Amino acid sequence: MAAKRDYYEVLGVPRTASQDDIKNAFRSLARQYHPDVNKAPDAEEKFKEINEAYGVLSDADKRAAYDRFGPEGVNYQGMPDFSSMDLSDILEGLFGFGGFSGMGGSPRRSRNAPRRGADLSARIRLTFEEAVFGVEKEVEITRDEKCGTCGGTGVEPGKKPITCSTCKGQGEVRQVHQTFLGSMVQVGPCPVCGGRGEIIEDPCRTCRGTGLERRTVKRKINIPAGVDNGNQVRVIGEGQPGINGGPNGNFYLELEVQPHRFFRRKGTDVLLDLDINIAQAALGDEITIPTLEGSEKLRIPPGTQPGKVFKLKEKGVPILNRQGSRGDQLVTVNVQIPTQLTAEQKKLLESLGKTMGTDIKIQERSFLDKLKDVLGG
Ligand SMILES: [Zn+2]
Ligand SMILES: [Zn+2]
Repeated sequence: MAAKRDYYEVLGVPRTASQDDIKNAFRSLARQYHPDVNKAPDAEEKFKEINEAYGVLSDADKRAAYDRFGPEGVNYQGMPDFSSMDLSDILEGLFGFGGFSGMGGSPRRSRNAPRRGADLSARIRLTFEEAVFGVEKEVEITRDEKCGTCGGTGVEPGKKPITCSTCKGQGEVRQVHQTFLGSMVQVGPCPVCGGRGEIIEDPCRTCRGTGLERRTVKRKINIPAGVDNGNQVRVIGEGQPGINGGPNGNFYLELEVQPHRFFRRKGTDVLLDLDINIAQAALGDEITIPTLEGSEKLRIPPGTQPGKVFKLKEKGVPILNRQGSRGDQLVTVNVQIPTQLTAEQKKLLESLGKTMGTDIKIQERSFLDKLKDVLGG
């Protein structure tokens, strides 16, 4: 047997490394060499070495013994065996919830533990108005469902699965390895039944023993008033089915809101740009403008300047999940200078011009402008 490599060297950490350093080194090496992800022929051997180094250095007592006496001083009993666990279970166990305790236990438990099904998503297009006022949409969801023929068992109706003779229904097998340190017991999932404890001799012909069938279901999904482009509607439990009795995943509907011919949105305000002519701006007028709920009269007061914004209170978008409250409609008025005049219009403007003279007025800079200069804005 080849001499063992130094455990610190295996994990690539200094002898002074903290527990966190050791854990992090193990995590990145596990991602690299775990047999789940690395199919190279020597990866498994390499991962075993990493597993052993981590098992010793992550345990304060074993590490102290190793530091003083080398591998001969270490008690290898009760070492966790990560090579028989899924990579995701390792990473979750080490860095997610649940901490590290109990990780050395049966890998069968983690493999057969209930897990939430995967989430599914789809995109849907909404008109501007649908997003503003809300809408109910029928959506097709294609997902796995319990096989209708076998009820999800994977067994052909009328037949029964048999108890696995290799593990006697336990789902796991114990293997004793003789090493120069003594015998080491390894517990792993039964390779014959895959940890289920039973074997299906007559798989269901509909689902080929998977217990699942691909199916498309229709669901009516309520899209609330006030949603915007890029929002998601979550429908709990309509994703992929849970595994080992875990809850179903969720279904997410991503919303794509089409632009409107006139309106734009800024949060819950609806923006509308409007052109009026110079006579309307100077003399004032009452005009008809579109709103989300039909047309409305807007009074333009005499002397309206270009860029003036009129606010129509609470004519905007309903505020999501806040019944009764909504934004405003903001109407920005642009004053159009005519570029093509009839002879009569030209004459009228010329006489108007004469009454106004030719003086120009240089605009004084406002306090705000000066402040902007100072602040560099
Ligand atoms: Zn079936
Ligand atoms: Zn078995």
